[in-house]
Amino acid sequence: MRFLCSVCQQEFASPLRTLDWRRQRLEFQRVGEAIQSMLHIEDADTLRNYCSAQCRDSQEPQVIAALGLKFLSPKAEPIMPCGQCGGPVDGTQPHTAFAQVTLQLDESGEVAQCIGDRQLAVLCASCDPHDDAEQAAEARERERAG
Ligand SMILES: [Zn+2]
Ligand SMILES: [Zn+2]
Repeated sequence: MRFLCSVCQQEFASPLRTLDWRRQRLEFQRVGEAIQSMLHIEDADTLRNYCSAQCRDSQEPQVIAALGLKFLSPKAEPIMPCGQCGGPVDGTQPHTAFAQVTLQLDESGEVAQCIGDRQLAVLCASCDPHDDAEQAAEARERERAG
């Protein structure tokens, strides 16, 4: 499997560096004195592919600015600031995140290993353009019920 770099237009195979939109959810577990966070990714949509860290680094600030993301790189916590409005996002519930991911792929293009994952921003429901109609309908249903 070959990918085309968004910056230098070179074809490449692996590792694949991307900027992704995804639905995710965090789970927090107490391990002794520490709280450990676990990331569950339900669905991911790749926005851009890059051949190298240099190519990604050179374009990432532009992409972030174009998306209107201002509150960046939130720590994995139960409540995180929305990337657009700064309002609270409940990390333990499914939410949309923008992330930088690096994948090692085998020859068939299957993901062999995730070698890098950093969330660049998370979105609250009112800023989330990916919130589909079904989820909105569900929310209305809940509002009526409550
Ligand atoms: Zn490149
Ligand atoms: Zn927001």
